[in-house]
Amino acid sequence: MENKKEMRTWLDDLNLKHPLVIAGPCSAETEEQVLKIAHELKNTDVSYFRAGIWKPRTRPGMFEGVGALGLKWLQKVKAETGMKICTEVANAAHVKLALEHDVDLLWIGARSTVSPFIMQEIADALEGTDKPVLIKNPVNPDLALWLGGIERIYKSGVKNIGAIHRGFSTYEKTKYRNNPEWQMAIEFQNKYPDIPLINDPSHITGKRDMIFDVSQTALDLNFDGLMIETHYDPDNAWSDASQQVTPESLIQIMKDLKIRKEGNTEEDYNKQLDNLRAQIDVVDNQIIELLGKRMKASDGIGALKKSKNVAVLQSKRWNEILGKMVIEGEAQGLSEEFVLRMFKAIHQESINHQEKILNG
Ligand code: PEP
Ligand code: MN
Repeated sequence: MENKKEMRTWLDDLNLKHPLVIAGPCSAETEEQVLKIAHELKNTDVSYFRAGIWKPRTRPGMFEGVGALGLKWLQKVKAETGMKICTEVANAAHVKLALEHDVDLLWIGARSTVSPFIMQEIADALEGTDKPVLIKNPVNPDLALWLGGIERIYKSGVKNIGAIHRGFSTYEKTKYRNNPEWQMAIEFQNKYPDIPLINDPSHITGKRDMIFDVSQTALDLNFDGLMIETHYDPDNAWSDASQQVTPESLIQIMKDLKIRKEGNTEEDYNKQLDNLRAQIDVVDNQIIELLGKRMKASDGIGALKKSKNVAVLQSKRWNEILGKMVIEGEAQGLSEEFVLRMFKAIHQESINHQEKILNG
């Protein structure tokens, strides 16, 4: 299996710690707030201090950021703490201002990555910069759109490129604010092992108590770093209050995360094992979700049959399904015996569901 940590990237060239940690508030609110958080993160493993100053909000009338004024506060952070600083840019004017204020790293938000026009405008404004630029995935699960955005930035001569996986919007509510779709992150890494990939558990979960688990999964899946929103008073933050953690919890999270470093073969073995197990966990969760969906459809059929007074068991259709699945299974390397056993169990659960509806 490919071990991307053996590849040298700009993260190594800039001598950045592994995993790279970017932390700071969702939004810069006041100069005092920014500096207070920064001082609490000083002398930790945080490499970049983040704060959004131009905030894309879903609805108008919400706090939309302090604007260019915040750049002065970020400069103070750098001067007082020695931490590197970063912010989100969403148009050419933002890029110009951020570069003029010597912001050390820029990221492009999920709502910008969806638009090739905006990405091209940002790419043109970034032309030739040596600052690292991180591109968040678009809000919708479209890998080609994400890669297209990255390509635009790369073509304008930006060499230090990275990507941020912040999850994807779904119509159906899940336990996540933005569904991680881990398969897409795995596919991203397989396609572009030399582009550093950072995980953003804050926007994926939307809830601070889920941040640790998502961060650990990301590290087990070989991510290069984490971006975690951090605020000294999360509950009273002006944006994304429920997902921010205190500097103290961030430090605890970083301490508790199992981080595998490359080196001896034992470590490599463990890292690969964790990576494969994390992939299995992702798929197992998907299997359970899919089975849940299948049973819901089955409940629908149960209700329909009840209205027409039709019997639950329809042997002809069932035999057709089994025959088809045995063939599909074979193509996936699954034995006939396994496919039959699995589908009998699924079918039984389906019948139980429908019985309940018919007799309920
Ligand atoms: C953010 O990082 O605060 C932000 C707006 O993120 P996203 O673009 O992922 O929604
Ligand atoms: Mn945010």
